[in-house]
Amino acid sequence: MLAPTKIVCVGRNYAAHASELGNPVPSEPLLFLKPPSAIVRNGEPIVIPPWAGRVDYEGEIGVLIGRRARGVEEEHAWDYVGGILPLNDVTARDLQRKDSQWARAKGFDTFLPVGDPVPVEGLDLLSLEVVTRVNGMERQRGRARDMAFSIPYLLAYISRIMTLEPGDLLATGTPEGVGPLNPGDVVEVEIPGAGAVRNPVVLGER
Ligand code: MG
Repeated sequence: MLAPTKIVCVGRNYAAHASELGNPVPSEPLLFLKPPSAIVRNGEPIVIPPWAGRVDYEGEIGVLIGRRARGVEEEHAWDYVGGILPLNDVTARDLQRKDSQWARAKGFDTFLPVGDPVPVEGLDLLSLEVVTRVNGMERQRGRARDMAFSIPYLLAYISRIMTLEPGDLLATGTPEGVGPLNPGDVVEVEIPGAGAVRNPVVLGER
């Protein structure tokens, strides 16, 4: 059961992805929130509203908070992590470009497929990767070591701003290769060694 009080997301955390959308890597982590109501689990559909325009997948490494975190030091940050999970930061790209804040583009119901968390013990944290496939074809492959801001850095940075509660999620940004989803597609985000989340895409009624 995943019941986060919030999902804290990082934008433009891989240089190659920032540049593919014509953006620089920010000098500090660029944060936004997704609502818990956006969460769906493995096998549940991503529902695209017919008026939303282009909707993209964004495969990401997800971090589950295991202990209340407030002002944590970067070198102790992993102590606060309860698990790693694949997630898909589904984004209404046309609406994101229209809006200076992204609550609408990022916040639709079903726009956050999340996999099952895997404990960090036993994972090789230095070689974490995320892979996205659409209809079985690989579209993204990113490595945590290529993040502009590392997971420990992000946890220290965010926890100086807001208290992270057990069960909260962190979405650490997507690597290059984002692209559109269409009704009938099946999109899968995998973290090798930490499972996958796979979802069909359907057209909503309104
Ligand atoms: Mg993202």
